[in-house]
Amino acid sequence: MLDIFGIASLGNFFTYLTAFFGAFLAALWLSLIFWTLRDIRSRSHDKFVHILTVILVAILNLPGLIIYLIIRPSLTLTEEYQLTLEEEALLSQVEERLLCPGCGSHTENNWQVCAHCHTRLRKVCLQCDQLLQLPWQICPHCATPVPGSSTEAEPADTPPITG
Ligand SMILES: [Zn+2]
Ligand SMILES: [Zn+2]
Repeated sequence: MLDIFGIASLGNFFTYLTAFFGAFLAALWLSLIFWTLRDIRSRSHDKFVHILTVILVAILNLPGLIIYLIIRPSLTLTEEYQLTLEEEALLSQVEERLLCPGCGSHTENNWQVCAHCHTRLRKVCLQCDQLLQLPWQICPHCATPVPGSSTEAEPADTPPITG
């Protein structure tokens, strides 16, 4: 009588163990699917891609997840957006530098004046003939002060005092 009871409880124990293990696997399976869905949604807006990814992980489970990790887009949408913003900022900086402040036309780096509105864009060093930007007060190529700038305005030209 006691022995039969023992076998029965052992059977119960295995039933519980199997049920517990099954529940654990099911939870793991579901959480893998949810994790993948959340991950792919942060990387792609394409509903078709979402569905395909979920099916892949739902059917193949862990190997499916590994495949997904290999082929998923490397950047999340937020990262991609920030990268685009940075690129646009960089581009607009470059374009701003090449646009004429007078008429907004496209200019070249080596232009002294704008070809369209004759606005002065750069000046020439008197010593080495290199192009200088207008705010520069000294030539970076030969260290010659630019005429008319404050660095050049030294009391060198004061007439000698005669008495
Ligand atoms: Zn211009
Ligand atoms: Zn110079």
